[in-house]
Amino acid sequence: MTSSGTRRVLVINAGSSSLKYQLVDPGTGASDATGLVERIGLPAGRVRHTCASGTHAHETTVPDHVRAMELLRTAFAEHGPDLAQVDLVAVGHRVVHGGADFSAPTVVTGAVVDTIRRLFPLAPLHNPGNLQGIEVAQRVFPDVPQVAVFDTAFHQTLPPAASTYAVPRAWREQYRVRRYGFHGTSHAYVSRRVADLLGRPLTDVATIVLHLGNGASATAVDGGRSVDTSMGLTPLEGLVMGTRPGDVDPGLPRHLAEVAGLSVEDYDRALSTESGLLGLTGSADMRDVEQRVQDGDPDARLAFDVVVHRLLHYVGAYAAVLGRLDAIAFTAGIGEHSPLVRAAVVDRLSGFGVRLDEAANEAAHGEALISSPDSSVAVWVVPTNEEWEIARQAAELVGEG
Ligand code: ADP
Repeated sequence: MTSSGTRRVLVINAGSSSLKYQLVDPGTGASDATGLVERIGLPAGRVRHTCASGTHAHETTVPDHVRAMELLRTAFAEHGPDLAQVDLVAVGHRVVHGGADFSAPTVVTGAVVDTIRRLFPLAPLHNPGNLQGIEVAQRVFPDVPQVAVFDTAFHQTLPPAASTYAVPRAWREQYRVRRYGFHGTSHAYVSRRVADLLGRPLTDVATIVLHLGNGASATAVDGGRSVDTSMGLTPLEGLVMGTRPGDVDPGLPRHLAEVAGLSVEDYDRALSTESGLLGLTGSADMRDVEQRVQDGDPDARLAFDVVVHRLLHYVGAYAAVLGRLDAIAFTAGIGEHSPLVRAAVVDRLSGFGVRLDEAANEAAHGEALISSPDSSVAVWVVPTNEEWEIARQAAELVGEG
């Protein structure tokens, strides 16, 4: 439990209509409180705060992010822990897009705010909400350093061969068109945990991390550095996701403009919100899809197979890019909770000496080794913990790590 003088970081993940928060011990990852203010700017706002005394939820009007932050403060004051009794060393903000400007967490200054704003065109759905969270937190916690932790930062180590799209020079130079990658905080956390679990120095280990949530990405991590990743300029590229298709033929927009009169906006909406599992089955939720596979539904069967096929594409590619492979790690909702997806991927790698321990895979709960002792590659389930990673990086940056 929190006691006076104990270091904590308040981690904030602010979206356009929600504000998620967690009070985290950066040393251990222990969390004293988590909460969510949602439906900001919509008719019936909601607040949920979970702490030692339980979960406290109510509905209220939340016209804007300023009010959301006040509600956060009120929730701590009413239900605990008392923020006045906590040694709050930083507020750590998740920021989705740091472009090529940020390769590490950064203490927020006026110039940093301006840069995050300049990057809006690269992440129009995310960076504006992230910045609103920062600006209101600066007002509510004026004496605490605000630290921005970027989803793209971990991938700034991508070699040019991996980050460069073969497109005209003007696009690359004037419009910053390149592969940035996302989910970096999760990939950083999981790849470090894998090295710990293998009992080897991070600098020695080659890992493929499969972050499979509603959004999904694969990353090749060599010695703690991201060397290839499946998301690109935007979080649409790569794996098949809940509502996004991942890789498609770049000729698709023109084709659809011609045959269906689709505008850029129509196309973007369909690729962001109507594709992936949803487009193939009518449900974006892998639990539904797996249930329907068991019930013999052919659409669900096809969707599951398409997801696994694309995963195999990336695992094979990244094994080749790395040139060696010590571990494959599964994380996020599907990676942590779907033995079916994990088995479907790992079984197809048996020709390369990768061997699943079926019982361990079925029983996996929390961190678990799911490959057998004779496997050529260790396969792990590692629950991601982006809040801890943000707290750790923020505390380290302000000299409290
Ligand atoms: P987000 O990217 O929104 O944080 P999550 O990491 O929570 O998403 O992952 C959500 C996905 O995880 C959904 O497709 C959900 O169906 C899937 N998932 C959660 N639990 C299970 C489970 N037991 N079996 C299969 N899929 C699961």
